[in-house]
Amino acid sequence: MSDTSMSKDAPNSGESEVGGDGRMNRLRFRKKDMPGGLWLKCESCSGTIYRKEVVEKAYTCPACGFHFTMPGADRVRHTLDEGTWEELFPEIEAMDRLGFVDSGPYGDKIERTVQRTGQKEALIAGRGEVLGRPVILGVLDFKFLGGSMGEVVGEKIALCCDVARQEGKPLILFTASGGARMHEGMLSLMQMAKTCSALSKLNEDGGFSICVLTHPTTGGVTASFAMVCDLTLAEPGALIGFAGPRVIASTIKQELPEGFQRAEFLVEKGQVDVIVARDEMRSMLARLLDFGACRPAAKAAPGPAPAAGEAAASPAASPAAESAAESGAAPPS
Ligand SMILES: [Zn+2]
Repeated sequence: MSDTSMSKDAPNSGESEVGGDGRMNRLRFRKKDMPGGLWLKCESCSGTIYRKEVVEKAYTCPACGFHFTMPGADRVRHTLDEGTWEELFPEIEAMDRLGFVDSGPYGDKIERTVQRTGQKEALIAGRGEVLGRPVILGVLDFKFLGGSMGEVVGEKIALCCDVARQEGKPLILFTASGGARMHEGMLSLMQMAKTCSALSKLNEDGGFSICVLTHPTTGGVTASFAMVCDLTLAEPGALIGFAGPRVIASTIKQELPEGFQRAEFLVEKGQVDVIVARDEMRSMLARLLDFGACRPAAKAAPGPAPAAGEAAASPAASPAAESAAESGAAPPS
């Protein structure tokens, strides 16, 4: 569940080849010589690239176009029209109900992560517009405990579904996740059913949802809400799967096909509808939103759903979301 894409800075991590192969050409960089995070190594082309350039290109490699994991706040900025963002449920924060301890207490881990990221949880939710089309947006941020889904993430997704139903707006979700949050034990696994039920209810009421799978989307997130939206998009080269390829290969003791669990492989198998490059994401979303708005189901949509706002202060306390979870409805499609 570690951030593998943006944290490995090639020149910082020991020795680096700078032209030629002789000992004389081998330079040793230390952290004090190179300011941390100035350079990073592309996972795809192995090129050493200037971080600023990557950020300017919406976290894609200037050399090969590889799509790095994008921080949640940048994703929101990159997806929505300027000045339209209005955050929803920012006050809901993670709780350590089980008193879980692994390398340290889970409560401490949350506290450190909140301080480091400036966010209270892994999911950022809100209202906004994509090229003038109003949407409800939910973005999983990988840098918050690997974008893992605990109680709060599940609750916020369910609440987003409620707001989308209530306001008759389409729901767009971006995923980047290591899966369920193990520190929350079974409570985190229950979010799989809860989020699927909430999306099912949105679907039944004529709502429209799009999920964009970004690198990496794995575990309980892939196995739940990420795969049950009306449309499933993916970014190029994104790793999408349940268990990791190494675990699968060692379990079945077989060599995996080339490109296994990558977005391109999954389009071929029909698990992903379309791959969309980051620089085309907004225009594609706008087109798909127009498509969603003119579906027969959308036109026949019933009135607003019950309010969910007043229950936002505490996780797992939304009556609408809970009743959705209890109904045990099957995920759409
Ligand atoms: Zn590259």
